[in-house]
Amino acid sequence: MENDFPFEKPNKRKERTENKRYLAKKKRYQEKMAWNSSGAPEFSSAFLEKSENVWRISEIKQGVSGKILTCFSQDWGILDLQIRWNDERAGAVVIGDYVSLRKEEIDGIIKRANLLARYKWDNNRFSLGSRILQPIAANLDYVVIVASAKDPKFQPWFIDRYMVLVDETGIPPIICITKSDLLPIDDPVLDWYENTLKVPVIHASSVSGDGIGALQEILRGKTVAFVGKSGVGKSSLTNALLGDDVITTSHVSEKWGQGRHTTTASKMHVWGKDSYVIDTPGIRSLEFLEFDREELKMYFPEFVKHSGKCQFRDCNHATEPICGIKSAVSEWKIPEFRYRTYLRLLSEVA
Ligand code: GDP
Repeated sequence: MENDFPFEKPNKRKERTENKRYLAKKKRYQEKMAWNSSGAPEFSSAFLEKSENVWRISEIKQGVSGKILTCFSQDWGILDLQIRWNDERAGAVVIGDYVSLRKEEIDGIIKRANLLARYKWDNNRFSLGSRILQPIAANLDYVVIVASAKDPKFQPWFIDRYMVLVDETGIPPIICITKSDLLPIDDPVLDWYENTLKVPVIHASSVSGDGIGALQEILRGKTVAFVGKSGVGKSSLTNALLGDDVITTSHVSEKWGQGRHTTTASKMHVWGKDSYVIDTPGIRSLEFLEFDREELKMYFPEFVKHSGKCQFRDCNHATEPICGIKSAVSEWKIPEFRYRTYLRLLSEVA
């Protein structure tokens, strides 16, 4: 497990915050990876290396007596499997997983490169409101943060918010501003991400087609998910991306009585060789901040060098009268939009 953690340990001289953030991230990563084996005990020895003969979970449907998993192979084969609710495997696989099959049965999950998961409060009366891990999708190359230029109004702080959420997953982000046909957007938040953090920013319109080519170029050969508020144009973007090349990864199977009695829970669209867009409701509402106040501060690394001037060591940089961060904001050393995002997120965390 130690060696599997995909992020490099900061060297000793790096800021203390970097180290703390590294440890927090590692703890959560291990928690997520533990889910792999606890969710599927008999699979734990079967985490295979990826080979030619594997299938990918491309659609998960909820049926009456269990889950119906559609598997998609590298040579465009499609196969439906049914897993009954009482089978442990029903809860063990997520969309995007690579699995090995034997006699039309899942016999192992290929070790995941990453797992996009979120925590939610378990309101079961026996659990006393503890956090439970809800896995969403596996093996992603990018998360595309989608915001619209207009309708709904462009709100830069939402991008900041999603950046914090995505940063925590360890999956690289891309920013896409949709509906560019309605209004051109030029905002310091976007400059900050593009120039300081080197995050690709793409302006696109599903109506005029502008920027769709650029998006296709960057996403070709990758597995991605679009996240963002409802109505910003994620579905339209998926459709524009798929274009005419859409390849179906599901079929109606009479064998399992699919159709009227099933609902699609998650789906992975294929639009080219190894090019996938994952669409699950869980991803769309990726809105839960998993950390506490102390950890939130670590997601604003530019605050660190000014925090020495705070009166209190555990300063929240909010209502405290003497605060290094607030002075840095008033002296333009920290961009004001970053500080505003911080305050908004602070009000959301425990
Ligand atoms: P989602 O909820 O994020 O999946 O958003 P949708 O893709 O359903 O889009 C919401 C609305 O915005 C729909 O009425 C779309 O027609 C519209 N829309 C989406 N993309 C664009 C675009 O690029 N330009 C314009 N003008 N409208 C768009």
